[in-house]
Amino acid sequence: LRGVVAMDGPSGTGKTTVARTLASRLGAGYLDTGAMYRLVTLAVLRAGIDPTDAAAVAGHAGTVELDVGTDPARPAALLAGAELAAEIRTEEVNRAVSPVSAVPEVRELLVARQREIIERVLAATGGIVVEGRDIGTVVAPDAGLKIYLTASAEVRAERRGAQDAAAGRASAPDDTRASVERRDRLDSTRAASPLRPAEDAVPVDTSELNIDQVIIALSELACR
Ligand code: C5P
Repeated sequence: LRGVVAMDGPSGTGKTTVARTLASRLGAGYLDTGAMYRLVTLAVLRAGIDPTDAAAVAGHAGTVELDVGTDPARPAALLAGAELAAEIRTEEVNRAVSPVSAVPEVRELLVARQREIIERVLAATGGIVVEGRDIGTVVAPDAGLKIYLTASAEVRAERRGAQDAAAGRASAPDDTRASVERRDRLDSTRAASPLRPAEDAVPVDTSELNIDQVIIALSELACR
């Protein structure tokens, strides 16, 4: 793979699995921008800051020492050097991440970091798959390939529930669905870089497809 594959879409579409697998298959790097928003959110919660207090969140964001790995086989997420890949996926973080991500100062900071990471990985490996909500629209508008993954609300809630169960987190199906829908509503209605497909993104509905089928379709697009 040469260049950037931008992979956007709401939660529960299989984005993370698809992006990581695709990056591995193509020998490319991988960047999970959601993990960066989750790390800032965890730092905000740990500092005792109300995640809906935009001014306080903006003030704290600049002090957060976060780092993410770009190896698709081992996507690390660190705060001040401590690995927190599991801690950033709790329901507490799920609830707080949308208001934190809606703060323009947080987005500015993270988008700048994301662009730096993309440049570094491109120089080293030549290719990177970047997943998030605003990759094709804001972070990498010149990406060679933009994918917008979607899936029905039922399928997305099911997948999120299965992910939680696999990670040992119990969740009631109705709660999972409500949580996924709430986050998507907030993400797509916020003023700063709302979730939406880039005009030149290829829409891929994964409702009726398994991971292998999605990977085959995307590998073909990426290698065109
Ligand atoms: O992808 P993931 O579900 O881990 O993302 C968590 C949250 O981070 C999203 O619900 C959204 O609020 C925020 N996010 C964002 N922009 C991105 C990636 C994630 O606003 N590029």
